[in-house]
Amino acid sequence: MINIPKGTKDVLPSESYKWHFLEEKIRKLTDLYGYKEIRTPVFEHTELFLRGVGETTDIVNKEMYTFLDKGERSMTLKPEGTAGVARCFIENALDNNPQPTKMYYLTPVFRYEKPQSGRLREHHQFGIELYGSDSPYADAEVIQIVRNFFDGLGIDKVRLYINSIGCPECRKTYSDALKAYFGARKEELCPVCRERLDRNPLRILDCKDEGCKKIAADAPVVLDYLCDGCRTHHEQLMSLLTDAGVEFTVNPKIVRGLDYYTRTVFEFVSEDIGSQGTVCGGGRYNNLVSDLGGKNVPAVGFGMGLERLIMVMENAGLSFGENPTGTLFIASADEESRRLAAKTVASLRKQGVKAECDLMGRSLKAQMKYADKTSFPYVAVIGESERVSGKVAVKNMADKGIRETEIQKLAELFI
Ligand code: ATP
Ligand code: MG
Repeated sequence: MINIPKGTKDVLPSESYKWHFLEEKIRKLTDLYGYKEIRTPVFEHTELFLRGVGETTDIVNKEMYTFLDKGERSMTLKPEGTAGVARCFIENALDNNPQPTKMYYLTPVFRYEKPQSGRLREHHQFGIELYGSDSPYADAEVIQIVRNFFDGLGIDKVRLYINSIGCPECRKTYSDALKAYFGARKEELCPVCRERLDRNPLRILDCKDEGCKKIAADAPVVLDYLCDGCRTHHEQLMSLLTDAGVEFTVNPKIVRGLDYYTRTVFEFVSEDIGSQGTVCGGGRYNNLVSDLGGKNVPAVGFGMGLERLIMVMENAGLSFGENPTGTLFIASADEESRRLAAKTVASLRKQGVKAECDLMGRSLKAQMKYADKTSFPYVAVIGESERVSGKVAVKNMADKGIRETEIQKLAELFI
């Protein structure tokens, strides 16, 4: 037998309604806020992620699914959603349209990670991308979308943490402070972080190594190094969130795992699903579009892990709506009735009624058992007397009530 690849998951027919439920909610939510869907390829030129995500990040260093195609070009399966959107934005000159450009995506994401609960090699993200505005109002809107989404699902135990990591300008001074701090304890850092020290000391703050985490706990915090512009942006965002009644905690330790962030970074974290509790992460990336060769277009957005979201909802016993069933099962008592049942079902479907009949060649008794097991709310039996009279009894399986009607007019009971 061939097994599913490690770190991936099947969505079985009995569970797919949960995904449909969330996708439907996402489409309504994004429509409410004026965001349109963007779809980009599942694979891109590797170069895009090297430049977009950053060569010193874990994603690029350790986690990418990279391969040579038959034309010897290096391709990579999307390790996140933003770089492809930025590439598409530039390539299609979307900045020529009235700004801002408000987009959302639903996409699979591939990362070669050590699989564990909430950490997969293929997972799925809902993401928001708002391009063209540097205003804190844009940051506030993007964050409110997440809170509104969670509220609508009944999720209440997910906390919002925000931080500002400044711009390249203020980050220079901060970087120097980090270099001085970590440099003094260089021997205690993990080998990867020792290398990061010169290239990108900010990354050390995001290291998952226990030793590094301990040292990072007392490192200088970026909020103390913000320039005036970044400080004002951060303060305005906080007051906008307060105006909107969105609770948050400032966590100066959040730096996020991707290089492209500037100013605002945020995470929505659940305490209920173990150590992989970050359901949604995002922030501002004012230099991504220009770094990828586009114009100077500021942007803000987030990525939300749908598998982790489902874990949070299941953990809290929240509803995914009903798993839909058919409406009417028409059982048949003999071979000739089977043909009439099939004809009737075909006609009902044309009229929009979810009707089914036996496809297994089962006995009447076995058909009734099947209809019960698959939770059809209505069942009818066609046999010789029904064929003769042209009438059929429809049983409501919940209250056992029976209604008789002409076979020709069956649909009227359901529409
Ligand atoms: P983590 O710190 O948990 O590795 P991350 O910072 O790498 O997360 P992002 O790149 O911000 O995560 O991705 C956005 C969201 O996608 C995360 O908040 C999480 O919900 C989800 N996610 C990320 N990696 C995985 C994964 N390997 N399996 C399942 N979900 C994931
Ligand atoms: Mg990660």
